[in-house]
Amino acid sequence: MAVELIDTHTHLDDDAFGDDLEDVIALSRSSGVTRWINVGYSSERWNTTLAMANRVDGMSHMLGIHPGNADDWSNVNADRLAGLIRDTHPVAVGEIGLDLYWREDNLSTQTEALEAQLALALAANLPAVIHMRSAEQPLLNVLSRSHEHPHLHFHSFDGAEGLRPWILERQCTIGVGGLMTRKGSDSLRSWIANLPMDRVALETDSPYLKPQGVRGTRNEPAYLPRVVDDLSELWSVSPEDVRRITTDNACRIFNLNQRDAS
Ligand SMILES: [Zn+2]
Repeated sequence: MAVELIDTHTHLDDDAFGDDLEDVIALSRSSGVTRWINVGYSSERWNTTLAMANRVDGMSHMLGIHPGNADDWSNVNADRLAGLIRDTHPVAVGEIGLDLYWREDNLSTQTEALEAQLALALAANLPAVIHMRSAEQPLLNVLSRSHEHPHLHFHSFDGAEGLRPWILERQCTIGVGGLMTRKGSDSLRSWIANLPMDRVALETDSPYLKPQGVRGTRNEPAYLPRVVDDLSELWSVSPEDVRRITTDNACRIFNLNQRDAS
């Protein structure tokens, strides 16, 4: 029996799964992907994420405010988030970060939300799951301002060169998924090939970031084994070793139970 996989970043409460979530979960399980970390990334999503995590066996959750929802950051929501972190046992604070690809004009709001949420993660002794797009230097500025950080896990890391030394030196980890399988990801792939294997957890970011060659309009947890095959080639180890290593890593990073393969 193959080692079960953990999809460490999903948005299964997205409308894309509104009609057939049970089928998606069943297909995921039969593909060997038996646990998921679903992301409540805005105040509106916290309830749907929590409800789903309570209902679906094997599902954990993380909570935060995504930089794309930075306008959602307020004293009221900061208090709510702190309360939910205390009361609902998320496995991480996230996804949080900076995104200047979609919007540049609210960098100061994005920065404020990020710094406050990093502090929440640190205080709760939880990892912070970082979303970064087109914002390497501003993110480094934020991180450099503080000496103490929670563990930083860069979700769907796109290979941003400015962050690579930081990630290596600070023992950060990365989420690897469909992005790596795409054409044009050669630089990211060769960097991952040389990355210590204990730094990588698997994720789909479903319904986003479909792997290369997947038909249809959405990504699903059941496609995670394709990423295993890619990593197996990159690292020159067996798919079974990739499964074991990345599941161990996910358990360590997110403090999940190790489970037997049966
Ligand atoms: Zn996400």
